[in-house]
Amino acid sequence: MTELTRVLETSGSAETNPFEAMMTRFDAAAKRLDLDPGLYQLLRTPDRELVVAIPVGMDDGSLRVFMGCRVQHNLSRGPCKGGIRFAPDVTLDEVRALAAWMTWKCAVVNLPFGGAKGGVRCDPSKLSPGELERIARRYTASILDLLGPDRDVPAPDLGTGEQTMAWVMDTYSMHVRHTETAVVTGKPVVLGGSRGRREATGRGVVLLAERALEWLGIPSKGCRVAVQGSGNVGGVAASLFHERGWTVVGMSDVTGSLLDPEGLPVPEVLEHLRRKRTLEGFPSGARGSNADLLEADCDVLVPAALENQITSANAGRIRARVLVEGANGPTTAKADEILEAKGALVVPDILANAGGVTVSYFEWVQDRAGYFWEESIVNERMERILLESAEAVRATAARHQTSLRVGAYLLAVERVAENTRLRGVYA
Ligand code: NAD
Repeated sequence: MTELTRVLETSGSAETNPFEAMMTRFDAAAKRLDLDPGLYQLLRTPDRELVVAIPVGMDDGSLRVFMGCRVQHNLSRGPCKGGIRFAPDVTLDEVRALAAWMTWKCAVVNLPFGGAKGGVRCDPSKLSPGELERIARRYTASILDLLGPDRDVPAPDLGTGEQTMAWVMDTYSMHVRHTETAVVTGKPVVLGGSRGRREATGRGVVLLAERALEWLGIPSKGCRVAVQGSGNVGGVAASLFHERGWTVVGMSDVTGSLLDPEGLPVPEVLEHLRRKRTLEGFPSGARGSNADLLEADCDVLVPAALENQITSANAGRIRARVLVEGANGPTTAKADEILEAKGALVVPDILANAGGVTVSYFEWVQDRAGYFWEESIVNERMERILLESAEAVRATAARHQTSLRVGAYLLAVERVAENTRLRGVYA
């Protein structure tokens, strides 16, 4: 099998295949909206897919060829927005699903963006900083025609970060012969990044957890929360929950979980993680698996690590009353049905983790204006957009007597469909 076909192969079982998982939800919304068959076909189909070979000189003098891709799903609402993922198991199918996810996510929070995603099949943990830089720059050069502040604006995703965005921005700028900060978001603040971007997704998750409890009439003071993943999303969310007086009964990373029904000392756990880069060796709490964390006795569960964590195999054992999806696609469609039957409320990913893309939008706006906002303004505007969107999703779900997940898709698909209808089809 060649590298090219490996990038193109599909992934996951029928339940966990990322594109099908996303499409199941889209189909449910399209059916309720009674979408015209042609429009349905249009919204289902990615607009553009580019697969590129990325030849890179390695530190040992050898030459290796990595495979990358960029998928633009839908451009009807504005420039495409979506991260770049560096991971050893990236597939075109996964990138397609994530690109469509971005279309719906941007539409749920009503940002003037379409959806895109990019990926490079590589293992960042086995590459030197120099090799990573050369991959990022050559990948950028290879997809350059797709990019631009008015065309497609990447951001970090798994395996990439602020430094990667700085390289992408610099490579693009060298090609167009001027500094163009607005071509990526999630950059370092000194290079035109936005204050508050790093914390935005976790902050949004906490805000929506509080709002979900309010809807259920449950006071949030003293609530017990378990957070899967302690990275950018999970770590920030756990820290903010702790600051707001919640009891954080579980945290986890790739090595497993740390559980304490009396509450973990979150700042100490995060400091340990910062120093040791693992939860292993933390002196208090009980060690467990990631499954133990997901099934912990808590009021709110925040899956903030990976996709496909809650499936038909474990959904019946989830004890939380509310799930707030910090990660993209942590719950399968079959698991949704089981959770719904149990009466659990799921705040879906395309709403729950949209704080990040909202502040990315603010970053793009600030770069284009050349005028940068105080962090308090960033947070205040993000919170307003997220809460207004949450209420719009809830109202849509209530109108159609369906879940928040389907409500979010209904709102998003309706908005994208309206734009497409009004623009008409160029022929
Ligand atoms: P991150 O890399 O900073 O953190 C990921 C966390 O998950 C780490 O604690 C890691 O140890 C843990 N993890 C990794 N593999 C695991 C495994 N096999 N089992 C259990 N835990 C594992 O990533 P992040 O930026 O926090 O993103 C987490 C999720 O949130 C992803 O699904 C991402 O797409 C989504 N997301 C992120 C943002 C953002 O702004 N960073 C925005 C929207 C959605």
